[in-house]
Amino acid sequence: MKTYLKEVVLGLGFATLVFVGFTFPGYLFPFFLLFSLLFAASVMIEKNRSAAAGVTGEVAKSHQIEFHQIGGQDMAKREIMEALDFLKHRDQIQTLGIRPLKGLILSGPPGTGKTLLAKAAATYTDSAFVAASGSEFVEMYVGVGASRVRDLFKKARLAAKKEGKDTAIVFIDEIDVIGGKRGSTGSHQEYDQTLNQLLTEMDGMGTTTSPMVLVIAATNRLDMLDPALIRPGRFDRQIKVDLPDKTGRLHILEIQTKNKPLADSVDLEQVARETYGFSGAQLESLCNEAAILAMRESKEQIEQLHFRDSVDKVLLGERTGKRPREEELERVAVHELGHAITSELVRSQSVSHITIAPRGNALGFVRQVPESDGYLYTYDQLVNQIIVALGGTVAEELIYGNRSTGAQGDIQQATNMARTIIACGLSTLGIVDIENLQKNILDEEIRRIFAEIYDRTREMLSVYEEGIRTLSVDLVRDENMTGDEFRTWLQAQIKEPVSV
Ligand code: ADP
Ligand code: MG
Ligand code: ZN
Repeated sequence: MKTYLKEVVLGLGFATLVFVGFTFPGYLFPFFLLFSLLFAASVMIEKNRSAAAGVTGEVAKSHQIEFHQIGGQDMAKREIMEALDFLKHRDQIQTLGIRPLKGLILSGPPGTGKTLLAKAAATYTDSAFVAASGSEFVEMYVGVGASRVRDLFKKARLAAKKEGKDTAIVFIDEIDVIGGKRGSTGSHQEYDQTLNQLLTEMDGMGTTTSPMVLVIAATNRLDMLDPALIRPGRFDRQIKVDLPDKTGRLHILEIQTKNKPLADSVDLEQVARETYGFSGAQLESLCNEAAILAMRESKEQIEQLHFRDSVDKVLLGERTGKRPREEELERVAVHELGHAITSELVRSQSVSHITIAPRGNALGFVRQVPESDGYLYTYDQLVNQIIVALGGTVAEELIYGNRSTGAQGDIQQATNMARTIIACGLSTLGIVDIENLQKNILDEEIRRIFAEIYDRTREMLSVYEEGIRTLSVDLVRDENMTGDEFRTWLQAQIKEPVSV
């Protein structure tokens, strides 16, 4: 229809031109100019349109992902498969009159495998797969976003037909960009139009239409979404895709090293234990970095120490070129030793690696072997964590008689834990509602918790004062120390056992 319109306009334009040329020859030139300008503009708009359509909605055919190639995420996988079964048994759904599921939302931090899960969903249901990202719909011109949404669904149906499939999955990454609460983005009428178009497309999908389209969206800001989006009949299934736990991390590491030669020394379980909080994407990057390190050393296999060195790199970014002054480095070493000693005292075998090689924003770093992926903490565990957090600054106080700004992050962390103690009813205030607690009472209690723990930490560390002085010099020289080296040193320090 659009193409006909162009022909008609073109024809009318010519007719006008001829008519004007015959009746008022004087006006011929300005009319001709106007006509060619209009023609050029229409060609440009058309070009832009097709270019835009080309960007939005990448059709993926090759490179099929299956659920078993995704590590961890057992819960998410199970929920998705359950939800997808209706696509596989369409006839049954129809006879039972079940309202079709139109959309799934995967929510969770970046790099946890949401895109992979959507692709696996397409493989599992033998559907055509079309992907786009929310940011692709954001345009300066009103209406373009909405027309791209239309094109995306059209493209999905077309892809399904072409591949001879009767289902299609439309994947929209970063749905929060277009699906944010309406009106909250100020006067952005454009976002509203795009979102409305998406809702219209979803409302128009039925079980009887062929091909059937399912929308899978991903976000890390579920709370930001417009309530209209998560109403029944739209995205009525929300699936959490969290950071993997240790078993999940091990599974991902196994998947990501499948094509890499590993030395016998490699203990992936150990790597999984030390990568608490890593996302799947970070683990992928870790395996890649380890392989690069092995290559740099002309090794034919990747060894455990390559993984160890890559953990810091992925966590803290590339080593920075600048080197702090010598006395600053010594202070950093003292500070980190304070963390390391307290960590080992409250939980033995907990120090994995100490480094004062500057990386990213951190000057030094003690890597701890995480306790276990727990969800509950006892009072003692929280207090121990505060002791370790304060260990750095207390060591500085002990050796130099003063403290530095290096403890800013530690104190932030310690404050959060002190608040947790109070909020969970574990402080001397008993069970209280921290939200309604008078501010001075809250501050007083936090101060009390800190004062008590500070003294305890200082007492713990004072025994090691001389040791810290000598070991910090070694640490400045060597930059690194393994957990085992550190423990050997620590044991040699204690002449008689100190009670903690
Ligand atoms: P998200 O969409 O949640 O941001 P992606 O699915 O784009 O994350 O993941 C990015 C990359 O990280 C993947 O291509 C893959 O290499 C790796 N990855 C992430 N999660 C996993 C996982 N659970 N199993 C295996 N690899 C993963
Ligand atoms: Mg992604
Ligand atoms: Zn610190």
